[in-house]
Amino acid sequence: MNLDTAKEALKKYFGYDSFRPMQADIIQKVYEGRDSLVLMPTGGGKSICYQIPAVTLPGMSIVVSPLISLMKDQVEALRANGISAAFLNSSLNEASQRSVEEAAMGGKLDLLYVSPEKLVSQNFLPFLKSVRPNLFAIDEAHCISSWGHDFRPEYTQLKFLKTEFRETPIIALTATADKLTRKDIIGQLALRQPEAFIASFDRPNLSLEVRPGQRRLEQIVSFIKKHPNQPGIIYCLSRKSTENLTEKLLEKGISAAHYHAGMMADERTAIQEDFINDRTEVICATVAFGMGIDKSNVRWVIHYNLPKNIESYYQEIGRAGRDGANADTLLFYSYNDVLMLQEILQNNESDMLDIKMAKLERMQQYAEAVGCRRRILLSYFGEDVKQDCGNCDICRNPPKAFDGTVIAQKALSAIHRLQQQAGMAMVIDVLRGSGKKDILERGYHNIKTYGAGRDIPFLEWQHYFHQLLNMGYIEIAHDQHGVVLLTPASRRVLFENETVQLVRFATIKERQEAEKARAKEAIKPQRVRDELFEKLRQLRIQLARERGVPPYIIFNDATLEEMAASKPMTDDDMKNISGVGERKLHLYGSYFIDAIIEFVGPASGRGKSSTYQVTHDMYQRGLTVEEIAEKRQVTPSTVYSHLAILYEQGSDIALEELVSPEVVNQVLQSLRYIQEPYLLKDIFDYFDGQVPYHQIRLALAYGKRHSTAGP
Ligand code: ADP
Ligand code: ZN
Repeated sequence: MNLDTAKEALKKYFGYDSFRPMQADIIQKVYEGRDSLVLMPTGGGKSICYQIPAVTLPGMSIVVSPLISLMKDQVEALRANGISAAFLNSSLNEASQRSVEEAAMGGKLDLLYVSPEKLVSQNFLPFLKSVRPNLFAIDEAHCISSWGHDFRPEYTQLKFLKTEFRETPIIALTATADKLTRKDIIGQLALRQPEAFIASFDRPNLSLEVRPGQRRLEQIVSFIKKHPNQPGIIYCLSRKSTENLTEKLLEKGISAAHYHAGMMADERTAIQEDFINDRTEVICATVAFGMGIDKSNVRWVIHYNLPKNIESYYQEIGRAGRDGANADTLLFYSYNDVLMLQEILQNNESDMLDIKMAKLERMQQYAEAVGCRRRILLSYFGEDVKQDCGNCDICRNPPKAFDGTVIAQKALSAIHRLQQQAGMAMVIDVLRGSGKKDILERGYHNIKTYGAGRDIPFLEWQHYFHQLLNMGYIEIAHDQHGVVLLTPASRRVLFENETVQLVRFATIKERQEAEKARAKEAIKPQRVRDELFEKLRQLRIQLARERGVPPYIIFNDATLEEMAASKPMTDDDMKNISGVGERKLHLYGSYFIDAIIEFVGPASGRGKSSTYQVTHDMYQRGLTVEEIAEKRQVTPSTVYSHLAILYEQGSDIALEELVSPEVVNQVLQSLRYIQEPYLLKDIFDYFDGQVPYHQIRLALAYGKRHSTAGP
């Protein structure tokens, strides 16, 4: 078997033109009969590494996966691509199990997914012996290690694979494995001279942003409004808060549901299904949500609270944008969350408490970072990155440093005069000259720095205290009720004139304004979320509902974006779209081609476009819009949209007779204030319904035809 065959299969079954880095090498190793260990981030493309050998090699491959709920989806997705696959686990009854086994023994399957319980069960070995698999793929291989966080005892029995099937290659795959876990995987599976493939953990399509956790609800609602029709997940710390937040979002008219481990299993399944099928847009969940779902078009993830560590954070944001299209992530950060998490850890965790506290501290440092966030993440995972990413809030809006020595001196001297006996909030209150009872009772209003920082608001002080903490100028004594302590570095500031650089505090409002200004200026990344995309998306929902499958099984978002951008109108062009394989072309190609032709109109289409031609002919004969509509038995707005399309395409239409230059100008100006994608409805709403849809349509047509010259 060679890589050309592999590449042909990639195109034929999956519609992809090329392998991602490492995929080809991994497949090559399988062809050579060698064992491999594959470490790739979620969404990195691990499945292709065993699915391509499975469809190209003679015989059948076995995939071991602990996530039973995922098996059905994965098998469904493979079948949608024309690959014969099945699964065996405890959810099937006897008869179905038997028929799967028969299919396997009859050589009818390329891939068989098996739960670890099934694989290690008594009478499974004879079956395996009789089918003689060509490959064992062990998915979520970190479950084998007791060091990992999802230890599965059955996984430790998998060693028999190597003893019973000496010649069959094994490929172990995971998205999370530190060095120790890697060693464990190799040892437990008895892999023979395995090659380790460790991919970059970078997910450049995920934007990263951290915001202060004030007025979170308000911020979340406005965030969701800016992501219309885009599914997303909000992670909350407690079950109760998933419920409360959901309720508030529902009140705002947002399609939301909550999910946590305290709910009944069938309730959870129903909520998950609704989300997968794009019926619910937003899920407010505890971290229990996400492991068992394989939804590739999650477009955003919000963390309502700070996660416990960077591993969890990265795994959770990793659930966004698995299709490779852009996705946004937002983390809310407040110091209170840190205190709360510290308390939770101290009360519940006895093993490795120090390590867990240190991990939390790294998470906090990430949230407070003043340098490129992606670099921090990747360096945490041991990757050496030399460039800033350009796709995080810090890169887009670099904080400005200033000489904060005086501010630092005031803070440190207050701590000193409070004899290192006060917590952060108390120190700030003293600096701000608060008249709180507590302070007066303790006589803190008599110390020299009382009120010395009145001019700085509380939140801003907090921001500076966090920076001082990060820079080592102060310490928090967690074992003494969180009082603030001085350090040797703080003495240098107080007594040796050491200067301190601080980063200016930006309020939420300022941040939002900066973000808006940036959005206006920046050249938009290639994210085609226009009217056509929306139309194709609707078509996808309709086809999915008719067939009872999740929408992303039809095509994923990245594929739709590419269609919207390059507008394929023939089978050949459609085949060139990434994600359109033979089977999907056959099943769905013509629906999407028709929708695109209808959208684009005459000049480029086939026979179908004649509807525009008819309108055009009548128009040329001097009929009015109303007359054309009457004759053609369509609404005037349809005629207007035909004329708009004809005009866009360069036809000879007297646009100025249909829409006034003032309206054209106003509509095109309005685009600056409207979030992309420009939906007609948003423009309509922008003018409070004062400009009819057909006029907007015509104005946009003017804009498109003259886009090089500007309006
Ligand atoms: P993982 O199992 O590593 O989380 P998947 O195997 O589910 O990731 O792949 C993530 C997404 O990337 C899927 O939508 C998959 O079809 C897509 N993908 C994988 N390999 C390629 C490739 N070579 N070209 C384009 N897309 C790919
Ligand atoms: Zn960055």
